[in-house]
Amino acid sequence: MPIPLLTATATGGPLDPAQLATLAVLAFLGWRLLAIWIFPYVPCRHCRGTGKHRSGRYWRPCSWCQGTGRRIRLGRRVWDWTRARSADTTTRR
Ligand SMILES: [Zn+2]
Repeated sequence: MPIPLLTATATGGPLDPAQLATLAVLAFLGWRLLAIWIFPYVPCRHCRGTGKHRSGRYWRPCSWCQGTGRRIRLGRRVWDWTRARSADTTTRR
């Protein structure tokens, strides 16, 4: 089965909406992967990146991010998990 994007460029015809949607999804996924790779951390939602929580008159370290004010991205966690799994299989062999 030929790849739709390659056939479109080969015939020189305009991209149809389905191909444009595929291209947009691919670009979006690529951008997300790049962002996960470059910026593995995001500001903590619970303390807005400050690392502390206000309870009444007092400031306490945020328990969600252990006071760091940043949280590891879910995508990065999946990335690390898959890397750890592949490392396991290579050591087992
Ligand atoms: Zn926090």
